Amino acid sequence: MKINPALSSMVREIRENSLKERQHSRKIVNWVEDHRLPTGAGKALVLILPTRGCSWALSKSGGCSICGYIYDNPLQPDYDIMLHSFKEILTQKIEKDLKYSLKLFTSGSFLDTREVPLEIQKEMMKEAAKYDQIEEIVLESRPEYVTESVLDNIAEHIEISKIEIAIGLESANNAILQNSINKGFFWEDFVKATNRIKDKGARVKAYLLFKPPFISEFDSINDILESVSKVADLGVNTVSINAMSIHRGTFLSQLFEKQLYRTPWLWSLLHLCQEIKQKFPDMRLICDVVAGGSERGAHNCGECDKEIISILKKFVLNQDSSALKEEVTCSCKTEWRSFLFSEKISNSEILDIYR
Ligand code: SF4
Ligand SMILES: [Zn+2]
Repeated sequence: MKINPALSSMVREIRENSLKERQHSRKIVNWVEDHRLPTGAGKALVLILPTRGCSWALSKSGGCSICGYIYDNPLQPDYDIMLHSFKEILTQKIEKDLKYSLKLFTSGSFLDTREVPLEIQKEMMKEAAKYDQIEEIVLESRPEYVTESVLDNIAEHIEISKIEIAIGLESANNAILQNSINKGFFWEDFVKATNRIKDKGARVKAYLLFKPPFISEFDSINDILESVSKVADLGVNTVSINAMSIHRGTFLSQLFEKQLYRTPWLWSLLHLCQEIKQKFPDMRLICDVVAGGSERGAHNCGECDKEIISILKKFVLNQDSSALKEEVTCSCKTEWRSFLFSEKISNSEILDIYR
């Protein structure tokens, strides 16, 4: 069994209540941002496709304990409108002399045909193939939707080496996947999907989640370092460290509201990037901070947050570890160090409450 029934039932109850307030936006939210491409700095055109949302979040499992993306997906997607706007956005946003990563996100799995039918996947790939400026296309998916037939359908319409499949592995530790995140798959499923993607000639990106529920910041630092080593051995091309932020309507948001959870420190992210880049200098390492500097995202004391976020941004864009060596001095660094140890002890008491 890949889920913990006690955790899953708590997650499901919160999900069912929050789904009643689901919004119904059918617009493709999109934006352009600076981004690290495989060959250097460039742009990312990000599109959030309004599909029906993640099948795992909609399942009886309740979905992941930390994720509230589903509340923004519409109940009934309109694929004609979606395809039409998709084409329009590409025409409007892609400039002639720039290089792009096209990120097609659904707040779920692009490869799940219940979210994006094969025909729509095909039409989108055909359209994207018209733009030489698009250097890579990033498609997110859970491992179970990474099938031969879905990959073959994509490869028929676009050069497969341009494709990067991004999988929210979160952690290579099955106990964390099962007892903290309610992920519903194990490390072994990720390995199978990765091998399948690489055999087809596409690339793989792994998202790792920094500081899921019940895992102290100290333990999560170690978990990320161990997970990075494992995915590197597997030949994963890109690793993205996602620092936990609080989504409404989730199991984690309830822990946060009861003051049983603190979002990660930016010091920890700086430390992680330094350690990882030193050990794996050739790995493309991404670390985008969502809601950085606020209570609901990774933050420090408020005084030094902007400076650290800007160092992380600079590092991600240029992959130059010298950016990480910039001296930042703030009195909260001592507080962070003692927090790492005190939280490790208090976390066992939190676990007792939920046992
Ligand atoms: S984290 Fe990913 S797999 Fe989990 S519920 Fe959210 S979209 Fe689905
Ligand atoms: Zn500070």
